[in-house]
Amino acid sequence: MKRWLVRKSKEEWASGISGVLMRHCWPNNFGISYFWGDRWVPNLVNQFIPSAPMGLPVDAYVCELVDQEISDWDDNLLESCFPHEVAQAIKQIPLRGSGEKDSLIWHMSKLGQYTVKKGYKQWLADFLIQNGVHSKGKAETWKKLWRLEVPPKVRQFMWRLAREILPTWVLVSHRNPRRGECCPFCDQRETQKHIFLECQWASRIWRRTDVARVFELMGDGTFYEWMETAMDQRTANEVEEWCVLLWYLWKESNAHLFNGAKLPEEEIPIHAKLLQEDYKQNQLRKKEHSPQPVRQGWRKPAVGETSVCTDAGILADGEAGLGVVIRDSEGRFIMAAAKRILGRWEAEVAEARAAEFGVQLAVQFRLPNVKLETDCLSIVHKLQNPTVFMDKTGVLCRSICRLLEATGDGRCSYTNREANQVAHAMAHVDLRWNERFIWLDTPPSFIINQL
Ligand SMILES: [Zn+2]
Repeated sequence: MKRWLVRKSKEEWASGISGVLMRHCWPNNFGISYFWGDRWVPNLVNQFIPSAPMGLPVDAYVCELVDQEISDWDDNLLESCFPHEVAQAIKQIPLRGSGEKDSLIWHMSKLGQYTVKKGYKQWLADFLIQNGVHSKGKAETWKKLWRLEVPPKVRQFMWRLAREILPTWVLVSHRNPRRGECCPFCDQRETQKHIFLECQWASRIWRRTDVARVFELMGDGTFYEWMETAMDQRTANEVEEWCVLLWYLWKESNAHLFNGAKLPEEEIPIHAKLLQEDYKQNQLRKKEHSPQPVRQGWRKPAVGETSVCTDAGILADGEAGLGVVIRDSEGRFIMAAAKRILGRWEAEVAEARAAEFGVQLAVQFRLPNVKLETDCLSIVHKLQNPTVFMDKTGVLCRSICRLLEATGDGRCSYTNREANQVAHAMAHVDLRWNERFIWLDTPPSFIINQL
């Protein structure tokens, strides 16, 4: 299907737009933007079509509204499918046919290129406008919000939540009264409070977490007041955990609404936790690369345990290398192994294969109480919640769990890359594919210094 591009004119795009960062970035890849759900109409509030899918299928692409003969919007189709206001807003988007490659454009700069600096400046400007004159106490609370160690998208979301400007159906229906105000899960009016507090769907998810009492602080207050109290009275860690989960609820309720996709409820808190830990690990890694790295070497396992460190390396030629180093609770070398497997592997799958390889060896050599150590956080989560994940690594992880159990008191633990360097070296041993090497009792020379 032919794709259509939008002219990168600042004036045309900027009209009537204010808000947070993402609002300033439009996909001009209409060939792959969904008509319902994607944000692509700059002149509409929240930039998406504020009505339930009608006239066009739920999974329609924006380019389907384009008359390819004249390279312009299909007027008849627009007017027959949508309220006049919406049709007009769409028609104001200039089109042109071209073979140019699709890309995201940033309409606040002439060249359409986004940089973090520009994004921040724009965001700050929007923020000051929206807040008007604010009291010192409020400024303090917003500052605390920006300092939270959560992914930037979560901070931006929290800001919108506290400003009560999330595009809930109740808010959106002010603009388009014909659209109902119902929550997609339960037919109640969809306000912010409903989505995050009152809806049975949300309550069931909160109950699955150890932070279920988060909203006791809120009472009848607003989200802003809740955030202020929470930041004053609770630890940053707790607040961060709540924020990420709130963001996830929002993300999921939108996914449910727009593509009917739905994560099992029990997975949502785990995904939220994973996102947060990943983010923190990444921040830590960034710090580790700064001039004064905080290095943590490998530590001996508990008495009676066997440490099995594993790592995987994705190699350029469509192969993966698996590395294993096994030591006893005194830190003495037992064995090291390397294996090459053929295929294009996703990093996570390769990491799971490495873990499996390591624990298999421990079982084969009857080593007791394996403490599996990997620097792949998602594998650790999947091994610790083996019944939850149904994807392909989930299946692999369940089999690793059974192997761990076979060694007695087996467990899995996360280790940072620094501490896992020796397994990393083993994963990069130069082997032919499908070749496997094991070093027993005496380590190979190239890892002696790292042991
Ligand atoms: Zn509901």
